Amino acid sequence: MARSDAVVLGAGIVGVSVALHLARRGLSVALVERAGIGEQTSYGNAGVIEANTVFPPAFPTDPGALLRIIFKRASEANYHLAFLPRIFPWLMAFRAASRPERLAETARLIRPLYARALAEHEVLMAESGASGYLRKTGWLKVYRSERSFAALKHELDVAAELGLPLRQLDVAEAQALEPALQPVFRRAVFWPQAASVSNPLGVTRAYAARFAALGGLTLAGDARSLHRTGRVWRVETASGSLDAPEAVIALGPWASDVLEPLGIRLPLAVKRGYHRHFRARGTATLARPVLDADVGYLITPMEQGLRITTGAEFAARDAPPTPVQFDRLMPKARELFPLGERADDRTWLGARPCFPDSRPVIGRAPGRRGLWLAVGHAHWGLTLAAATGRLLAELIAGETPFCDPTPYRAERFL
Ligand SMILES: Cc1cc2nc3c(=O)[nH]c(=O)nc-3n(C[C@H](O)[C@H](O)[C@H](O)COP(=O)(O)OP(=O)(O)OC[C@H]3O[C@@H](n4cnc5c(N)ncnc54)[C@H](O)[C@@H]3O)c2cc1C
Repeated sequence: MARSDAVVLGAGIVGVSVALHLARRGLSVALVERAGIGEQTSYGNAGVIEANTVFPPAFPTDPGALLRIIFKRASEANYHLAFLPRIFPWLMAFRAASRPERLAETARLIRPLYARALAEHEVLMAESGASGYLRKTGWLKVYRSERSFAALKHELDVAAELGLPLRQLDVAEAQALEPALQPVFRRAVFWPQAASVSNPLGVTRAYAARFAALGGLTLAGDARSLHRTGRVWRVETASGSLDAPEAVIALGPWASDVLEPLGIRLPLAVKRGYHRHFRARGTATLARPVLDADVGYLITPMEQGLRITTGAEFAARDAPPTPVQFDRLMPKARELFPLGERADDRTWLGARPCFPDSRPVIGRAPGRRGLWLAVGHAHWGLTLAAATGRLLAELIAGETPFCDPTPYRAERFL
């Protein structure tokens, strides 16, 4: 029977960052994963480390935008009709959390965590040899109409109140940053303190290698075998049973598979998203991620090519892929940037693990001794991973946390 001080279930960017932070504190740690390290949601994201997040993506308030989504004309969102009754209560809670005053409240509650997001990655990247993936070039959001830009006013006011730097740009100023962008937009906002990575999988693997160098063990196993026995948590792995007094659930969109059998029901839904890689035409390049805000997709330069990621799809986590958003957005994307042919023939599908208030859960599992949660990082799990790892490791080790963990407690849903 193997034993460690802590077992972390799930080796996405969140679980690996938690495991690494625990190992840095001298704990013996086992990381249990059933697939490859970092190969699920953390593989295919847009690579933005968006430490400037003000408002999370919100339920549409513009009736026109909502109708476009309902009639499946929108590129920013898609849904499976048969799934809507199941997700309806979650959608209503998400809609309530999207009211202007709630968005402003969320912006303030999440700020301490986001404020550390990039700095904490830089610490882990430096010691993992992963700094080469990091680009501190900010990100650019472009707006095709004055109306959509005007709708940003509340968010920009809150950004100013929080002291977040940004630059409002006209077309020529945006093209000075990204000369290949075509003038199909009217306005842009440049967020200079955002960063991005050229290979999210490379970052997760580098953190995992650092974890191993500190003596951390990575084991193949199924987290659904987790159960309490005596004073410890036990999980079955390919190397046998493993016992630990502290267990961390970092299973991204699969967290409920383990939590619900333990009697912990949290409102975790998924917003699915896709990516495809393209080449640029001619000599066109991009230096940073660009969000085409009105159309609802992102283009990021990655090692594999230009990665286009889609907005939300509301469908069962394991339902077959339906990448129809590409049909709707590609003409617009080709209008904005000179995209060439596909760089590979793969359409990747991932599932953002989301709570309706767009805040992650980081902390103790309610009523379960020694059980900890690092789940629900939604649109910004890469961004928050290193700060989450630090915060949770501080809580588990009984250190003073670097920020107040109260806004991230699971109890807010009980
Ligand atoms: C299209 C798209 C674009 C995105 N863009 C960005 C971005 O630009 N910036 C950003 O910050 N975030 C972005 N995100 C969000 C980000 O990718 C996620 O929030 C993040 O990857 C979640 O990490 P995680 O470690 O919680 O989950 P995961 O990476 O999914 O890790 C969970 C792990 O648990 C394992 N697991 C599951 N069940 C079991 C089991 N029973 N036993 C053992 N192991 C199990 C899985 O195999 C997986 O490796 C994007 C997401 C999508 C879908």
